[in-house]
Amino acid sequence: MSQKKKIAILGSTGSIGTQTLEVVEANLDAFEVIVLTAQSNADLLIEQSIKFKPNTVVIGDESKYKKVEDALWKHDIKTYCGEDALVDIVQMQDIDIVLTALVGYAGLKPTISAINAGKNIALANKETLVVAGELITNLAKSKGVNIYPVDSEHSAIFQCLVGEFHNPIEKIYLTASGGPFRGKKRQDLLEITKVQALNHPNWEMGAKITIDSATMMNKGLEVIEAKWLFGLKSSQIDVIVHPQSIVHSLVQFTDGSIKAQMGLPDMKLPIQFALTYPNRLKTDFERFNFMDYPQLTFEQPDLKTFTNLALAYQAMEKGGNAACVINAANEVTVEAFLNDKIKFLDIADINAKTLQLASFVEKPTYEDFVMSNTEARQIAVDIVG
Ligand code: NDP
Ligand code: MG
Repeated sequence: MSQKKKIAILGSTGSIGTQTLEVVEANLDAFEVIVLTAQSNADLLIEQSIKFKPNTVVIGDESKYKKVEDALWKHDIKTYCGEDALVDIVQMQDIDIVLTALVGYAGLKPTISAINAGKNIALANKETLVVAGELITNLAKSKGVNIYPVDSEHSAIFQCLVGEFHNPIEKIYLTASGGPFRGKKRQDLLEITKVQALNHPNWEMGAKITIDSATMMNKGLEVIEAKWLFGLKSSQIDVIVHPQSIVHSLVQFTDGSIKAQMGLPDMKLPIQFALTYPNRLKTDFERFNFMDYPQLTFEQPDLKTFTNLALAYQAMEKGGNAACVINAANEVTVEAFLNDKIKFLDIADINAKTLQLASFVEKPTYEDFVMSNTEARQIAVDIVG
């Protein structure tokens, strides 16, 4: 019997998806790709499928289906299209672990479906935990499913906790690079263009998370993600700006000891660890050299300029559907900014306004999250105009 881990990669054509396939390619004796999915990039999905020979592929955009099917049937690869196919395919018997590398709220339904089928999750799609963290973590517990973080900060916390799971956490420090506008004030950000906002100093990522990093919403979403992954209260989660992105995050235990996980910024490491935990596989990734970084620096985040971070704390403390609301608003405002419909500072302002206007649900069910997401998106769309 094969000992290879059988992986489904949702969003294989994106930044995390393609890096996951690099990890697979470097370890073909450890991993086997069973499912690949994309939204609309049919060409890359076809190329990946011919190379990695998954059992099944799903393309979200139905207009691209014929192209994918025509290219892959002769390779004996099954092809499906549409959102429902994604929800069904994650339940396939052969899959050991589902890596969720799709972007945004779209990750929620397939992740729930995968957990329901008892599949372990390697979670990159942080929006799923932001929208419905309590629902997802309770469901995972009841199904005996593990959620392994892919996000580098959460992987760092997780790596610090290995061997310490019985020890209470006093607090965690999530590090943030500060993005391209670190040190700038509100008046400096009035005329920011998308080209400037898409130019992240340390990480190459998809467009949505890159804008989220520039507004610091990404760190806000990560604070909420950490709350659910590690069962923490708001007061136990601190954000500290660390421009070099070498210390990926830290855990402080109740005896005052702090553990940190360090390394050069490269998502392939957290991706690989999420797939191989509790083992580590040898890699040829570039090694960290202390003399290249004689100074690692830390500073307070500027919550007055980067109000999205404060908004995320506010939503987390409010609970209920509040985080779902800000996530929905943020998906709309980031897209509007990328389409030149609003200015950079409008993103956070509209997100905050949407939270004020949206209905509050204290104990949301799955259906409440669906409704809340729709309502908040509509409110944000109306404000965008
Ligand atoms: P990308 O935009 O690069 O890739 C997104 C992937 O999801 C693509 O394969 C895309 O397909 C697919 N996709 C997009 N929309 C949908 C949809 N509605 N339904 C189904 N599939 C869809 O994103 P990233 O790889 O940067 O990010 C993915 C997730 O990982 C995000 O949640 C992000 O926050 C998180 N993350 C990313 C990091 C990074 O370094 N990039 C770091 C930490 C977390 P197509 O190509 O066809 O459009
Ligand atoms: Mg991160």
